[in-house]
Amino acid sequence: MARKKYVYFFGGGKAEGSAEMKNLLGGKGANLAEMTNLGIPVPPGFTITTEACIEYQKGGNFPEGLMDEVEENLKRLEKTKGASFGDPGNPLLVSVRSGAPISMPGMMDTVLNIGLNDETVKGMLRKFGDERFPLDSYRRLIEMFGDVVSKVKRSLFEEALNEVKKKKGVKLDTELTASDLKEVIERYKEIYRREKGEDFPQDPVEQLTRAIKAVFESWNNPRAIKYRELNNIPDDLGTAVNVQAMVFGNLNDRSATGVAFTRDPSTGEPKFFGEFLPNAQGEDVVAGIRTPYPINKEQKGESPLPSLEEMMPKVYQELVDVYKKLERHYRDMQDIEFTIEDGTLYLLQTRTGKRTAQAAVRIAVDMVKEGLIDKETALMRVSTSQVDQLLHPMIDPSKKYEVIAKGLPASPGAAVGRVVFIPEEAEEWVKSGERVILVRPETSPEDIAGISAAEGILTARGGMTSHAAVVARGMGKPCVAGCGALAIDEEKKVMEVNSFTIKEGDYITINGNTGEVILGEVPLILPELGTEFSEFLSWADEVRRLGVRTNADTPADSKVARDFGAEGIGLCRTEHMFFGEDRILAVREMILAKTPEERRRAINKIRPMQRSDFLEIFRVMDGLPVTIRLLDPPLHEFLPSDDEEIEKLASQMGVPAVKLKQTVNSLKEFNPMLGHRGCRLGISHPEIYEMQVEAIFEAAVEAIKQGIKAIPEVMIPLVGHVKEFSILKEMVERKAEEVFEKAGVRCEYKVGTMIEVPRASLTADEIAKEAEFFSFGTNDLTQMGFGLSRDDAGTFLPRYVELGILPDDPFQSLDVEGVGKLVEMGVKLGRSTRPDLKVGICGEHGGDPKSIEFFHKCGLDYVSCSPYRVPIARLAAAQVVIREKKKG
Ligand code: PEP
Ligand code: MG
Repeated sequence: MARKKYVYFFGGGKAEGSAEMKNLLGGKGANLAEMTNLGIPVPPGFTITTEACIEYQKGGNFPEGLMDEVEENLKRLEKTKGASFGDPGNPLLVSVRSGAPISMPGMMDTVLNIGLNDETVKGMLRKFGDERFPLDSYRRLIEMFGDVVSKVKRSLFEEALNEVKKKKGVKLDTELTASDLKEVIERYKEIYRREKGEDFPQDPVEQLTRAIKAVFESWNNPRAIKYRELNNIPDDLGTAVNVQAMVFGNLNDRSATGVAFTRDPSTGEPKFFGEFLPNAQGEDVVAGIRTPYPINKEQKGESPLPSLEEMMPKVYQELVDVYKKLERHYRDMQDIEFTIEDGTLYLLQTRTGKRTAQAAVRIAVDMVKEGLIDKETALMRVSTSQVDQLLHPMIDPSKKYEVIAKGLPASPGAAVGRVVFIPEEAEEWVKSGERVILVRPETSPEDIAGISAAEGILTARGGMTSHAAVVARGMGKPCVAGCGALAIDEEKKVMEVNSFTIKEGDYITINGNTGEVILGEVPLILPELGTEFSEFLSWADEVRRLGVRTNADTPADSKVARDFGAEGIGLCRTEHMFFGEDRILAVREMILAKTPEERRRAINKIRPMQRSDFLEIFRVMDGLPVTIRLLDPPLHEFLPSDDEEIEKLASQMGVPAVKLKQTVNSLKEFNPMLGHRGCRLGISHPEIYEMQVEAIFEAAVEAIKQGIKAIPEVMIPLVGHVKEFSILKEMVERKAEEVFEKAGVRCEYKVGTMIEVPRASLTADEIAKEAEFFSFGTNDLTQMGFGLSRDDAGTFLPRYVELGILPDDPFQSLDVEGVGKLVEMGVKLGRSTRPDLKVGICGEHGGDPKSIEFFHKCGLDYVSCSPYRVPIARLAAAQVVIREKKKG
């Protein structure tokens, strides 16, 4: 049997791999191969496959034959480059980088300048005629190799470097002379020897072998594991390893290294956007060690630093040609890394660029208009969680506030929280219910859990492409980066910001759209959405089959939802109207009435209020169906429970407090969720439901008289037996007729039921003979189907999810395997006796993309969700159709 091929070469204008081979070569390796084949200047090299990594993970050993292939490819590389590994006469240096099939920026390890040792460093000097640069590269190798491969604390090297800088009276690494660097190298070697009990390895092949191992192992470092967990990336993909000839951005002043996006990753504007550092290597730009320079004149703004366009116009133009070629080829915004070595441009990486939600929509819409992609591709380019982010808060522009400092607007949105300086502590604060802004000198990949817990991130150093910025944008967290005015004392947990002192626990607000840092809490509001957003969602509407309605109880919520594209109200919970300050007393009088006469009197007070509520909602939803659910919760929910409030109510009602207490107690139940609620109330206290039905139809006919198209759908909650429904349906029809007759006007209407008691699902065929529509109440259906209390399960459900007993909280994402069967059965049985039965869902799951996929598959007619989830539901409903089509 032929042995598995573990290594793929690229270079000399040809590559063995291609962009399609992401799973095997990782994203970076596949794209290096693709770029090579496209004729883009890429330093040659080879990629070790993810399969080799998976094999390595099994036993901690390289798979058989791997090192032979590495050796063969190293020879090929030497030939292509015209230099030899370990040859002091003409040394070849390589970089070793990770590259997983799904991008995990900064999570795994990289080692640069492999091949340098005490001898080859001299060879480099002869080759490039510069003493400083090989020494700088060598000290970087010892530092990176020490940190990544041999696990020597990086801070030890940093301290040594700072000591030398201090001694020489310089601030920047670039100011160190060759002899200073020699001293740094000696100190680094000493640190290495002291920490490891051995010398820094001089054999280039040993360096390479150990670096490859370290990259394989970095697949399982804690931050990579955490990143995969947060981003739902499978643990068994493995990472590829790219071994590539080094090019030197730190060779001289005609050299540089940078990163760029083919469009603005914050706004999505079609503008080339990037940063670079002259005379610098590798990770200097992303690490935010020095303030990066702007890429072109347009981006320069007021920056005193010159742009690449000005410094190296010819190379800049080449870079522009390359980025345009890449974007046209990949048909998506690219995030590229480049190095300029002595005036020659090299691309080190291209990948799909991470972007804000706003940019995702803008880019998707623009690219359809530019003819690069079709509408369905555009719809798949924006995730439902990005749409969620778009509906995130911003600072209320009507409010005045004091800006104490300004940094870079690194990730949009505004956040308010208490200042915490240590990432692990940020997690603790959030666990105890606090909102937190994580403030750091700069962030590193280890901070990922703290970043994820915080509301927003503020850093003193780093640019728009710094780790903090990239990670925050991906997570949709507001971030202000590179705020030079912050003087942070991590140990004392305070910072000086201009003339202000801010301690741990103080409130600040950050504005990721402008870079502003504000003292104290500023009120936030939700943003206005651009025209691209509605155009984008209108494409979703062309594709989706599921209708999208909203759960709204007030005219204001109904308006928001309609503006977001809701096609009707799927659930108006009338009890929310009962809690209004102006009506709770009348509601309590109604509940506590002793005689039918008293009850009627109280009800007559509530009726006009309900009528006007409904009229206003009909007005907002003109022409769209409005599903109004009759009263659902048990009556004692409307009554006070503590003594003081009962006494107050007794005096308002003019009844003795003791008597009132007795009545309140008599209404209490052991299991209120399974008690006297929903249609059970309607049957035992018909006058309440009758009043509500009259108010609905009186409002409907009044609306019609005013020229508004009211389409009420009366919904009965908690039906478990068809007879419960028939009794109440008969009442609704009778009352509707009475109102129509009196008004001389009619309206179209329906009477239907919630399906939220398991027995209703099981007998849906019987119920559908009577009910004109079903709406699944998946909150109660989960509660009763699973036997999980909606109000109490929060204490132990997270543990269930942690242990993998359940994939998600079943109140957030439907338990498809269990409760889902009740939904499937309900739809099937219901339609068996009424084929045109309209079926929707109005539990919380109506706004959850995963559950929406299931509801689509069940053949539901619509989902109904809270107003701010309507855009999410529209997109989710379209994406499931596109995914189905793709599967064929
Ligand atoms: C449900 O149970 O799913 C539902 C929508 O009703 P409520 O949440 O009001 O009980
Ligand atoms: Mg319910």
